[in-house]
Amino acid sequence: MKKKKKKRLTKFDTYARLFFILVLCVLSVFLGKVFWNAMNPAPTEDADLRPAAVKAGYFHSLVKIKDVSADRLERYNAYYRAGYGLSMEEAVEFVNWDVDILCPKGPDERVLELSQDKFFVGKNLSRYLALYDGNSQNVRAVVEKVNACRDKTAYEDIEPTDLSKGIMVLVNKYHYLDSSYIPDDLVNAASQYCQYSSAKLSRPAYEAFVKMATDAKAAGYTIKINSGYRSYSKQRGMYNNYVAGHGKAEADTFSARPGFSEHQTGLAIDLSSPGVGYWSFGDSAAGRWVHANAHKYGFILRYLEDKTDITGYIYECMHFRYVGVDAATFIHENGIAYEDYYEKYVK
Ligand SMILES: [Zn+2]
Repeated sequence: MKKKKKKRLTKFDTYARLFFILVLCVLSVFLGKVFWNAMNPAPTEDADLRPAAVKAGYFHSLVKIKDVSADRLERYNAYYRAGYGLSMEEAVEFVNWDVDILCPKGPDERVLELSQDKFFVGKNLSRYLALYDGNSQNVRAVVEKVNACRDKTAYEDIEPTDLSKGIMVLVNKYHYLDSSYIPDDLVNAASQYCQYSSAKLSRPAYEAFVKMATDAKAAGYTIKINSGYRSYSKQRGMYNNYVAGHGKAEADTFSARPGFSEHQTGLAIDLSSPGVGYWSFGDSAAGRWVHANAHKYGFILRYLEDKTDITGYIYECMHFRYVGVDAATFIHENGIAYEDYYEKYVK
């Protein structure tokens, strides 16, 4: 009896030891890998960088820095060693912004002030400096203006809209859509949502609109689509009519030229409410509800009352743009024009 018990215990003991050894093996492999990774961080530089950097003698510092580019190595080195008291990280950052060219005597106060703006974008530094008078009260206005391309000439300094941005696409007086561009996800709005016989929107914008209209209804308000997607030729017809009636300069303040309209993306809506005039929507009860809540559904009021110099359009209390809930909430809470957001976070 005693012997039998001992034999059983020994068998259990063997399994327990085997299990313990197995756990030890797994643990050592895991810890070994963690240790190895910690000792050998993945290099962030591109392949061409290593020989040149080793030659320059500062590879070890550079490999840990983001955004190091091989063709600026000599400039990093020169700025770092110029005696301005910069860390290697700062030297890399400043050279990437061309501060060494713009401020050859070292980074000055203006650079530091501008770079503290929440929407500062390094590659725009030379354009900020061209407008900045050194009065730090004006930093926000300078950054905002450049981010919106308002230091350029509308309808002349233009580039094609980057369609790869999807619902975040930017269309304004500096970014245009091809005349043949038609969104591939247009849907017909249900007739109950249309102020006129029909309207089309890009699918995500339409689905968000339906949610918003449903909640508005529950809160006691009816909102409808006055105008959604507009084709290039439709926009051309509208714009030409406005020019005929108001002259080109005035028409440009409230109507986009063909190819430069957000309505061609299918992501913009002019909203209306029964019995409310087109330009009075913002002052109506339904409009006030939408102004307070649109961001929760992913819409922003695109042409703000206090940003007419930035957007290039007069205040449009009825024109909303779908950008998704996260971006819309951020933009709403920060009270910025879409251009600022796009330049900083999307481009
Ligand atoms: Zn509109």
